[in-house]
Amino acid sequence: MADQIIIVGASHAGISCAEQLRANGYAGRICIIDRLVGAPLERPPLSKAFLQADGQDDAKFLLRRPDWFAAHDIELLDGRDAVSVDQLQKQLNLDDGSQHGYDKLVLATGAVPRQLAAAAGLDGVFVLRHPDDAHALRKAVSGRQQAVVIGGGYIGLEVAASLTKLGLRVDVIEMADRLLARVASPQISSFFAELHQSHDVGLHIGANCREILQKDGAFTGVQLDDGRQIAAELLLVGIGVLPDLDLAASAGIEAGNGILVDAMMQSSVQDIFAIGDVALIDGAALRIESVDNAQMTAARAAAAICGLAQPSMAAPWFWSEQFDVRLQSAGIVPLASPDLRHQLRPGKREGGFSVWSYGDKGKLAAVEAVRDPAGYMLGKKCLDLGLSPDPNAIGNGDFDLKGFVAAGNKK
Ligand SMILES: Cc1cc2nc3c(=O)[nH]c(=O)nc-3n(C[C@H](O)[C@H](O)[C@H](O)COP(=O)(O)OP(=O)(O)OC[C@H]3O[C@@H](n4cnc5c(N)ncnc54)[C@H](O)[C@@H]3O)c2cc1C
Repeated sequence: MADQIIIVGASHAGISCAEQLRANGYAGRICIIDRLVGAPLERPPLSKAFLQADGQDDAKFLLRRPDWFAAHDIELLDGRDAVSVDQLQKQLNLDDGSQHGYDKLVLATGAVPRQLAAAAGLDGVFVLRHPDDAHALRKAVSGRQQAVVIGGGYIGLEVAASLTKLGLRVDVIEMADRLLARVASPQISSFFAELHQSHDVGLHIGANCREILQKDGAFTGVQLDDGRQIAAELLLVGIGVLPDLDLAASAGIEAGNGILVDAMMQSSVQDIFAIGDVALIDGAALRIESVDNAQMTAARAAAAICGLAQPSMAAPWFWSEQFDVRLQSAGIVPLASPDLRHQLRPGKREGGFSVWSYGDKGKLAAVEAVRDPAGYMLGKKCLDLGLSPDPNAIGNGDFDLKGFVAAGNKK
């Protein structure tokens, strides 16, 4: 077994991998390197609770307690950039000139937000990926009244909800013909559009920014394609992310829209693994960006490194929180499938429902649940067990879904 494992990236994937290696009984050296300074924070709250918090108790957002690293005998080298890999010497080079030999190297370098060239560098313009971004945005909110969010994906909408709750007037600009167009069913898009409108968020859907307006190097608003101007003091650019491939490129690792890995998260270079947002599993249509995926891929790499059987596969899951609504989703909505079909199922709680999406050959592919934890749980079980309840039955709230799952479980 390997004596030294180096993990680049101390976020959800990297830390889960270290934790899982120890849980698997690995007793050698584990060193995690991250360019960010300080104890790593969780990412999901950065657009939600962290952004709305007053900063007095940020310790509650720590990914692991500070004593966790020592307790698990895991070294954290923070504030250090890994700049290149020498795959022949099996050595990682850091920006401080130090060199670190490894037996196995795990790349958990995540992703970097896409920027809008016209807005980059202006005062009042933000992206949101890491704690530093969230600190800066939170600091900038104080005393401001109007914000624009470009991008109606989950992060853009969560930030819009948080800023609205903090008292700002927010306008969201989305170029597609609906919110969440890349990831969600049309029913979920409509639900969140109505939710945001009911909180007076301005939605500009199917709209493009013609110009970013500025004065003396500071953002002052946007002009849309149809000529309308929206004045604002803050801009959040939420137009997606790109995998952080710099380090992989230095080692000549094969990559496309992510570091290409096999089912064990092994890259094209022996003894180098990739996990989390940066990894693209061979044959998969897309990279998954979620905490669950970070943990699952970390567990797979840790099993491979320790020579253990692969953990069983479960449907990927994700959540989002906007205003007082929690969305839980499992599976991937098969938006490109020619057989795509969505079926609404009423939930047990007031205002609760789930959307069941079917893809190729009528197979259940995803369940998105709003204010409906029971619908989510049963949907996730169906996906994990490979069950595909009849869409016509699903639409009927009296259909005994629990019984259906229990019967499927026994088979
Ligand atoms: C604002 C926000 C809200 C989110 N909300 C949700 C949610 O509600 N639910 C959900 O499931 N998911 C959510 N996500 C997605 C989830 O947080 C990501 O999928 C997860 O963080 C991916 O983890 P990762 O470790 O792969 O990458 P990252 O979190 O991107 O971490 C990568 C780390 O690698 C470091 N790094 C990169 N290159 C180097 C280098 N060369 N040298 C040193 N260090 C390096 C970076 O500094 C970073 O710390 C959210 C993400 C964000 C940004």
